[in-house]
Amino acid sequence: MPKLFEVYPQQREEVAIWKMMRHPVFIDFAGNYMLRWVAINIPMNAFGRNGFEGDIDLIYSLAAPPIPNTHPSYIRAFEIKTATVDGNGTIKSLDSTKFEHGLRQCEKLQAFGAEMIFLIDILILEQGKFIINDPVWEKVDKTLADRTKLVEPTSFGYNVKFLQYLEEGDEFQAGMMYPPRDYVLGKHLPIGEPFKLFTDKLAEHAGKAGFKNGPPILFFCKECGKIPVSRTNVRNPVCEYCGYTIPVHD
Ligand SMILES: [Zn+2]
Repeated sequence: MPKLFEVYPQQREEVAIWKMMRHPVFIDFAGNYMLRWVAINIPMNAFGRNGFEGDIDLIYSLAAPPIPNTHPSYIRAFEIKTATVDGNGTIKSLDSTKFEHGLRQCEKLQAFGAEMIFLIDILILEQGKFIINDPVWEKVDKTLADRTKLVEPTSFGYNVKFLQYLEEGDEFQAGMMYPPRDYVLGKHLPIGEPFKLFTDKLAEHAGKAGFKNGPPILFFCKECGKIPVSRTNVRNPVCEYCGYTIPVHD
């Protein structure tokens, strides 16, 4: 089965999200907070018409550790963009148009009432072409610095995750070799009514599924339109209602 570097761009975001869910990197997006539940690709109108269309790529419901003056709980919404980086350090399939489209999606999430919004670039490195301190990183860093400047004036957070597989390994070696850096921290926004209603419904689903060796992962089944549950260590998530299997590949 193809590795992420070869997956068609249209499928790559969904596959990348699911691959991260079965690897410890998934916890990076929770910061220092406790992860209560995750939701993947849920349409904003999944619980009835509300004037919004389109999916939210990834949602994390978080609870704070018991530290005074910290926000007790909140929900992060993520807009995910993937791109490949070839051996010359050229970032492919994530041109400025696609990046700006990502920012517009974040604005839509803000209009929907999301309280903390992140744009995430997942950069999938060509196999065996990168070593730490390689000069090609300057080229990559320049692109990421330009993007950081575009996000800074907004309310959104911005972060980057690098994924690469080695000959015999899985795809997350780079995640460990190049630890996550903070690019832009998002601002805490007041929660809006449509988002509150939407996430209350998701929380209800998650509550029924319960926490079993990890948080429940809710996802939208494109086959039957229901919201089944998966878990963090599942290789190929299956819809419990209709049996549809998400092709995540090895
Ligand atoms: Zn289904």
